[in-house]
Amino acid sequence: MTENIYGLFASEIGENFVRIGVEKFRASQVADWMYKRGIYDFNQMSNLSAGLRTKLRGNFSIDFPEEQTAKQSADGKTIKSLLRFDDGEAVETVLMRQPYGNSVCVSSQVGCAMGCKFCASTLAGLERNLTGGEMLAQVQHAQQKLPEGQRVSSVVIMGGGEPLANLDEVLRFMRLCHEPSILDMGYRSFTVSTCGLVPGIRRLQESGLPVTLSISLHAPNDEIRSRLMPINRKYPMAELMGAAYEYALVTKRRVTYEYAMIHNVNDSPEHARELANLLRGKLAAVNLIPLNAVPESGLERSTPERIERFEEMLKVRRITVTVRREMGADIDAACGQLRNSHQKGGF
Ligand code: SAH
Repeated sequence: MTENIYGLFASEIGENFVRIGVEKFRASQVADWMYKRGIYDFNQMSNLSAGLRTKLRGNFSIDFPEEQTAKQSADGKTIKSLLRFDDGEAVETVLMRQPYGNSVCVSSQVGCAMGCKFCASTLAGLERNLTGGEMLAQVQHAQQKLPEGQRVSSVVIMGGGEPLANLDEVLRFMRLCHEPSILDMGYRSFTVSTCGLVPGIRRLQESGLPVTLSISLHAPNDEIRSRLMPINRKYPMAELMGAAYEYALVTKRRVTYEYAMIHNVNDSPEHARELANLLRGKLAAVNLIPLNAVPESGLERSTPERIERFEEMLKVRRITVTVRREMGADIDAACGQLRNSHQKGGF
């Protein structure tokens, strides 16, 4: 059995090398090939001797996922890829090229156990967690799609899965990206999005990494939220808002609230008033997302008029709000739809 070294820090690779009698300094050469040059084959590492390459091949593998399929939006700005790992599991990752930078949406699990009613990623339940290295590979893969000289400037962990249900690996992932010899990214370029795992929010805060927290709220009260998101029965809104408030207070970072606009469910003027009351005086910003209707859910997207009215009502009440521009709706860029259509044999 060979051991995978993709997703290890150079220091960890060094420990592995020493165990089989290879000099430690070789690890930074190999890390440089993998992380800086995108070479995942020992045979192509020309500064290693033929004998050393053979030895490394016999003991280690470099597992980098294969692009199973990729779709580009009509405007060319959004590329959604389905990446397949060695065990056959696949996840979605999305590259969004915007005037202010290149952003990647990363999956943290294969499938999801959270059961939110509107979300395609959770329909078939959780398959498994991703490792930090598997998340890093998604960013590196996106990086390779960019023209020479351009870099991934921000990462949102808003793909498939619940990052706070896999927090150790998510933290490892962000530390890998931060490492100068890997991607050299600042922690401030990361956003972790959660459906509301309160203990996870506290642990993220305690990690001390200055990352942005995003709460998938989607409802102005417990009654509606519990219907849409089962997690709310375990951690009701008072607890969730308390944890988010503390996160903002301690990290001094504005928490963003995602709010999918669902026709006749959470989009009335009364709901807007309720939401404004909930967020009044907090370091918060609301992102309204026109629902990407998943046929299985029976839920529909709010009309543009209702979305506009809702936005206006929040603005009047001095809540910072934006309506998410729809990127890549034409390529199933939303939330698990590509992976699902592929599993069903579609595409
Ligand atoms: N589990 C995490 C991260 C993944 S979901 C979380 O819940 O935040 C990423 C975002 O997309 C969340 O805000 C999620 O609620 C939202 N989302 C999921 N399905 C959606 C859909 N069909 N339409 C619009 N937004 C959706």
